[in-house]
Amino acid sequence: MNAIADQSPLQLLRTVFGHPAFRGSQEEIVTHVAGGGDALVLMPTGGGKSLCYQLPALLRDGTALVVSPLIALMQDQVAALKQLGVRAAFLNSTLDGREVNACEKALRNGELDLLYVAPERLMMPRMLDCLAESKIALFAIDEAHCVAQWGHDFRPEYLQLSVLHEQFPQVPRIALTATADPQTREEIIRRLALDDARVFISSFDRPNIRYTIVDKLDARNQLLRLIREEHKGEAGIVYCLSRKKVDETAAWLVSHGVHALPYHAGMDTVSRADHQSRFQREDGVVVVATIAFGMGIDKPDVRFVAHLDLPKSIEGYYQETGRAGRDGAPADAWMAYGLGDVVQQRRMIDQSEGSEEYRRVLVVKLDALLGLCETAGCRRVRLLDYFGEASVPCGNCDTCLEPPQTWDATEAARKALSCIYRTGQRFGAVHLIDVLRGRATERTAQWGHEQLNVFGIGADLDEAAWRNVFRQLVALGFAEPDHDAYGALKLTDASRPVLKGEQPVEMRQLQPRKGKVSKSRSAAAAGLSSADAGLLDQLKAWRLEQAREQSVPAYVILHDRTLAEIASSHPRDIDALGMISGIGAKKLERYGAALLALVND
Ligand code: ADP
Ligand code: ZN
Repeated sequence: MNAIADQSPLQLLRTVFGHPAFRGSQEEIVTHVAGGGDALVLMPTGGGKSLCYQLPALLRDGTALVVSPLIALMQDQVAALKQLGVRAAFLNSTLDGREVNACEKALRNGELDLLYVAPERLMMPRMLDCLAESKIALFAIDEAHCVAQWGHDFRPEYLQLSVLHEQFPQVPRIALTATADPQTREEIIRRLALDDARVFISSFDRPNIRYTIVDKLDARNQLLRLIREEHKGEAGIVYCLSRKKVDETAAWLVSHGVHALPYHAGMDTVSRADHQSRFQREDGVVVVATIAFGMGIDKPDVRFVAHLDLPKSIEGYYQETGRAGRDGAPADAWMAYGLGDVVQQRRMIDQSEGSEEYRRVLVVKLDALLGLCETAGCRRVRLLDYFGEASVPCGNCDTCLEPPQTWDATEAARKALSCIYRTGQRFGAVHLIDVLRGRATERTAQWGHEQLNVFGIGADLDEAAWRNVFRQLVALGFAEPDHDAYGALKLTDASRPVLKGEQPVEMRQLQPRKGKVSKSRSAAAAGLSSADAGLLDQLKAWRLEQAREQSVPAYVILHDRTLAEIASSHPRDIDALGMISGIGAKKLERYGAALLALVND
């Protein structure tokens, strides 16, 4: 794409990418990097980071090197660029020797606009030599938070990327990430020697994502209801903590008619790759996965992300839920959360290897997440506050839509804590609740707990309400799981003032079960008439055919949103079609006639 270097960034955005305008700070970033400046870009998933280096790549002389840890996705990213007429290639371990040679030759000859490389490949002496003989436009370091050593995606290879600055000091670098906490930001700057880089921080809000955290009652059925009632036939990701649970949940969903596939690191590479690519390419696949799945999933039309287990931190939660709704259309981030989750995560920290300091970091991170789960205020305000951003209640999270009732749980908390104390701090919630409710069992008899003065003092609350109380006590730090006795709860330093009645305790009330009925929110949001919906189906069928022929994912041909806009606006001619977002010059040339034929039919 040599002839375009004299176009303005905006012209390029329109002609090559088919977008009418820049989003947020994209233009500023593009201009800064195209002018030779270093940049650190913090933008949420779906914010539009790719354009921040793709446009400077076209504007500057030479080839842009894009470092990305996700070799599985390089192929799709390159395919998408080629659709736009951009000269792109990738270099990773999936290529054979001949392909590598051809690629290196193209790089030396200046025949590439963008080259995607895995970090370990970039650091090979042979590659560095090749770079020295080529014209390099810029280095883009994607997923830059991989340099953060205590982060959730640490990649040792990333630490070596500071070499780029030493060897090619005149080449501008742009580092990009969706992880926003200040510590990670500082670590990226320090480890990549980006001290002179301009830092661009976008709002981390994802307004189209609706956050919901429900009390875990019967998690699988709660999930199934979510899928059936709100996301029938739509793509989604379900996160579980263990491989076993992934397999069981996927099988259970399949037996209930959901097109679900498992994904975890214990599966063989072939089926793992197969499931990932089916999720990416087919319509409406639900992947049930451990967090091994997802880094770099850039499928734009994931309509929901569900957590059946608690993540470890807000960063993790935000990154995982951020995979929903990258196309900007409505999407759900849904989590079921209960006492067992809190106990499990606290125990995992206790048992984790590593220094005292490391464990303290984990505790602080978990506490922040528990605060999000237990808040009676807006979830989004909490999330954004964690990333240092002030905001007002959003109107698009469960607590905004149906404010939870809180109640004065001071008495209940006292009863629960004294029950833990009187029974010797050796029992889990199930037994404690039996004692509180005065339910005689083999165990209460065996341990003589029926004679205690706490036996039966909590008969006024039912079992679910008590579980809710215990969960919040552990989440708030008034009780904790015992390191040594599995499932047992014990008191903490914070328990005493509550026990003595010196500290009032507010708690969230158990949420009522709702029988919500609604049609798929994305279809509703598109607001199509039935005739237009018919056209949309035809457009999708045509797209699927194209995608199969070219063996690329459907969204690489055209995005859902673009098809929806065509279906609702009925463009009459090529000019009108070219005005639609997502259709640039190349796509207009290639697909314009076929699309118009469908519209005019
Ligand atoms: P990120 O890498 O930040 O997660 P992407 O670069 O993948 O985000 O962009 C997310 C989506 O937004 C893509 O579908 C992309 O085509 C779209 N997009 C990016 N910038 C614009 C823009 N200026 N106008 C319209 N759509 C855009
Ligand atoms: Zn809200």
